[in-house]
Amino acid sequence: MVRPMPPTTARPPSPDDLRELFLGAFEAAVPELEREDRIPARLLELTAAAGVHRLTVPPEHGGFGLGLVDFLPYLELAAMGPAPGRMICHLSNGIWRPLAGYGSPEQRRLIREQAEGRTTIAFALTERSGGTGRDLHSRAVAETGGWRLTGEKHLITFGDRADWFLLVAASDERRERDSLTAFLVPRDTPGFEIDAGQRTMGLHGTGHAWLRYREMRVEDRHRLGEVGQGLEVALSFLDYSRISLSACMVGLARRALQEAIAYSRRRITFGRPIAERDAIRAHLADMHADLEAGRGLVRTAAAAFDAGEEVTAAAATAKLFCLNMVGRVTDLALRVHGGFGYTTDAPIERIYRDARGFWFEEGTAEIQQLVIARHLLRAAEASEPDGTGAVP
Ligand SMILES: Cc1cc2nc3c(=O)[nH]c(=O)nc-3n(C[C@H](O)[C@H](O)[C@H](O)COP(=O)(O)OP(=O)(O)OC[C@H]3O[C@@H](n4cnc5c(N)ncnc54)[C@H](O)[C@@H]3O)c2cc1C
Repeated sequence: MVRPMPPTTARPPSPDDLRELFLGAFEAAVPELEREDRIPARLLELTAAAGVHRLTVPPEHGGFGLGLVDFLPYLELAAMGPAPGRMICHLSNGIWRPLAGYGSPEQRRLIREQAEGRTTIAFALTERSGGTGRDLHSRAVAETGGWRLTGEKHLITFGDRADWFLLVAASDERRERDSLTAFLVPRDTPGFEIDAGQRTMGLHGTGHAWLRYREMRVEDRHRLGEVGQGLEVALSFLDYSRISLSACMVGLARRALQEAIAYSRRRITFGRPIAERDAIRAHLADMHADLEAGRGLVRTAAAAFDAGEEVTAAAATAKLFCLNMVGRVTDLALRVHGGFGYTTDAPIERIYRDARGFWFEEGTAEIQQLVIARHLLRAAEASEPDGTGAVP
């Protein structure tokens, strides 16, 4: 039974309290999620009632105020279950951060609504027409009292049901860091076209959508942060989210290892369980070592985040390692399952597909490499201008 949390409690649910939700209720819904590609309303209600949306939200906005280190076990647990559970846990405990940092009092009121699961806010950055950051092609043109937004976004998680979209567009033509401006756009804005039919390889039930807008009028009160602060606003979500996603990758890798162990003990060939074969044992050991290494990097980055340190490089390092790690671990877990693992009767088949989504969510491996290398070279330059500086 999933235990609901009374809205006024000061104590967060423990990860154990949420085990039945993520590994029971969500797991039981897998056939429906795979078929319908949509979260059933009952799961949304259970998730909100259990207090998942407010785990890290500050108490003044109705949350439990957990730090990132304390939040990691929840993310791991959620990610051991089907994707929509971990996506809600990850997104709702991150998307409030740009609102808290840059929002007007009216926009900050949304934090409580989303902490209570009454409002969903999606993060809308990616475009088909260009790269992210300075290469965004969405345009925001100022006019009296507001803006005209023209452009498109795609792959927007929970675009199928979000009430608000944190949308970033270029507000001048210079293509500089301060050329972007963020907006919190209501779903029902006239001219906002939302096409929730974007089917993905895995992560079914996480509702990816195309957004299209042409000369769409947005009131100036829906601007999030100052004009030109859009990249900063987006990054205030991304540093957190790369660490949070890395914890999810550890969780999914744990699930894959669990499935591989269970299967290796069940599957008999030549009269013995394959778990008794050295080759299979080596795979299990490699998977374990790999995921524990990832977990260590996530903890380091999360501790630095909680200490208020600059974590862009640490978050990118955790994400780079963990996305490769979850790829290796799910590859091996599939191999341990033999051909059966390649059928839709085996949970590892879905886990394998879901793991591939991590390649792209909040930035690819190549972009993490770019961020890390830039950090290393800047640090070397700062300590020794001749380039012989120590590795940080
Ligand atoms: C499951 C899922 C959920 C997502 N959810 C969201 C969401 O909620 N909101 C949102 O805004 N986006 C979301 N995305 C989009 C995601 O952030 C992007 O797919 C990702 O950032 C990569 O961008 P792209 O797809 O445009 O790839 P591209 O930029 O087209 O990259 C293609 C390839 O070129 C490489 N590349 C591109 N530019 C460079 C460069 N400058 N240097 C070196 N290599 C480069 C990339 O690493 C990649 O290998 C989601 C994606 C997925 C798969």
